[in-house]
Amino acid sequence: MKYGIISDIHGNLEALEAVLKALGEVDGYVCLGDLVGYGANPNECCERVRALTDQVLLGNHDAAALGRLDLDWFNDFARAAIEWTMAQVTPENKDWLRSLPERLERLEATLAHGSLRDPWEYVSSTWEARSVFEAMDTDLCFLGHTHVAEFYVQSEGRRCQQFSLIQGGTVALRNGHRYVINCGSVGQPRDGNWQASAGLYDTEARRVQVLRVNYDLATAQRKIQAAGLPAVLSYRLGLGQ
Ligand code: ZN
Repeated sequence: MKYGIISDIHGNLEALEAVLKALGEVDGYVCLGDLVGYGANPNECCERVRALTDQVLLGNHDAAALGRLDLDWFNDFARAAIEWTMAQVTPENKDWLRSLPERLERLEATLAHGSLRDPWEYVSSTWEARSVFEAMDTDLCFLGHTHVAEFYVQSEGRRCQQFSLIQGGTVALRNGHRYVINCGSVGQPRDGNWQASAGLYDTEARRVQVLRVNYDLATAQRKIQAAGLPAVLSYRLGLGQ
């Protein structure tokens, strides 16, 4: 079976559509959260993902759009985007976001937005990844939140290692090894590559492929500016930051 792994869409409908096309025909999808925040199409992204799958997690920007997080935690641009998003998201989509869990175990994998000890903690070093390995009951964990495509691998008696997937690539899942994989962000990559990022998990072939996908960046940027969102949110998409 093949599954699309998508995360951190952030209201970027152009990136989402391009990623779904690139993933091709799959048996299902999982979404690791942050459907809204930053981009100009939060409702459209919620509705598209909701129609695709019920394996969806709550991200911190989704929680913030529901008024669940203290906005002092966010920088000025993120806060402006959250306030705009709060006003835009329909009551129906808010009800759906409210129903989303913070963690799931599916496909013999643990699914989370951030780390396993705190859903809003970033995992971007082997030190942080070790806490995930300790807390997971499976040999595979998919997480998002950092918007950086990379993976961590740990095998018996060996130290945890970190590898980049900034240009995409394939992770072959080997017996006796455990993996924490971040397939990157669909709608706002921050790893220096502007291309949308997503994963294709083949449960029979035991591999995870990370795809980097061109999308209609100019339209996504234009919509952000037309919506009156901070211009920096449009520029950063082009920089992959
Ligand atoms: Zn995010």
